[in-house]
Amino acid sequence: MTRQRLTILGATGSIGVSTLDVVARHPDRFEVVALTGHRRLDTLETQCRRHRPRYAVVGAEEDASYLAKALASIGTEVLAGPHALEQVAALSEVDAVMAAIVGAAGLPPTLAAVRAGKRVLLANKEALVMAGAVFMAEVKQHGATLLPIDSEHNAVFQSLPGSFAGDLERVGVRKILLTASGGPFRSVPLTHLAHVTPEEACAHPNWAMGRKISVDSATMMNKGLEVIEAHWLFNAAPEQIEVVIHPQSVIHSLVQYVDGSVMAELGNPDMRTPIAHALTYPERIEAGVASLDLFQIAQLHFERPDLQRFPCLGLAYRALAAGGNAPAVLNAANEVAVASFLEGRLPFLRIADVIAATLDAVPVTAVTDMAAVFAADAAGRDAARQALARWCR
Ligand code: NAD
Ligand code: MG
Repeated sequence: MTRQRLTILGATGSIGVSTLDVVARHPDRFEVVALTGHRRLDTLETQCRRHRPRYAVVGAEEDASYLAKALASIGTEVLAGPHALEQVAALSEVDAVMAAIVGAAGLPPTLAAVRAGKRVLLANKEALVMAGAVFMAEVKQHGATLLPIDSEHNAVFQSLPGSFAGDLERVGVRKILLTASGGPFRSVPLTHLAHVTPEEACAHPNWAMGRKISVDSATMMNKGLEVIEAHWLFNAAPEQIEVVIHPQSVIHSLVQYVDGSVMAELGNPDMRTPIAHALTYPERIEAGVASLDLFQIAQLHFERPDLQRFPCLGLAYRALAAGGNAPAVLNAANEVAVASFLEGRLPFLRIADVIAATLDAVPVTAVTDMAAVFAADAAGRDAARQALARWCR
């Protein structure tokens, strides 16, 4: 069997670590060509010793020279900076790229993988939210294969027929139902939300994830970004995408068909399942995840999301409806606001206020190329920083 050659962008993060866990179970199937990590050098060093990639990429030059010395005996070439990320995403000797950098920083290397026609495993939802139509056009133009890692989109992908080629009506789909856990604040008293700390916001009931996406789950902006992600991945109109709160995170999402059938993917909440699925699709491999014990679960619960409690979800639908640069502006404002919240400066409830003020401040314009995407990101960050000044401690 020829081994699939991989670049893992964001190897030191939650998704990166889960990816390497699956990869390590199948040494006959995968070969790691490049690993990247921004700051956690010790983790990256350990990963390189274990997987012996040809390249490693870090954020800063001084870290690269330190790591190069540490890895001299295994011959990994250590590079630094954003350009190096693009380089290892597009290597001719790489078949598939796991895009697992968090936030807008992941867009350029993910795009580089797309432009090199790779099989792209997309965890970095922010890249698709920002670049939307332009991103999807690049996928088509360069013959890249885009496979969703986000558990909801992976579940939708698995619940659609293999013949699906971008036309939901043609395959009889009425609606996509994205499930959401509701995060750690689904049922705490609303008055409590004014005072929640980053630690409370990052304590997700079902999933252990990076800090940014954990806060996004607490505000439900994560689900908002996922609505936009689903719009682009499955060519679904906003009114065809409905969010269902399902606190157990056992049903990862559902597809409703015109004949009344509803298809869903279920499993224990463990990202190694969608990662393994996308790594070898259409084949299945063992992922280290236990099968679901329905008797132990016994009951599944569902609720409608409360937009009063979760205004960020409404803001994401607003940006999707506005179109053009609005989703990129929304994403930029969210990244700025969440970073400030995690630094202990912006109160939790002001995250939504910063995003709303940013959407109000930046006029909606059409986006037809990547330059316009990056301009929208910059405009969103500028406007969000001005809004921050109003509410930061
Ligand atoms: P994380 O914070 O655990 O890891 C982020 C990774 O990106 C790290 O390797 C870090 O070194 C790297 N990184 C951060 N800033 C960077 C920069 N400026 N330049 C280069 N690299 C940088 O995040 P995560 O939870 O693994 O999430 C990664 C992505 O996957 C996010 O887009 C998230 O929304 C998505 N995702 C995560 C999960 C999950 O369960 N963790 C589920 C679905 C989707
Ligand atoms: Mg998700």
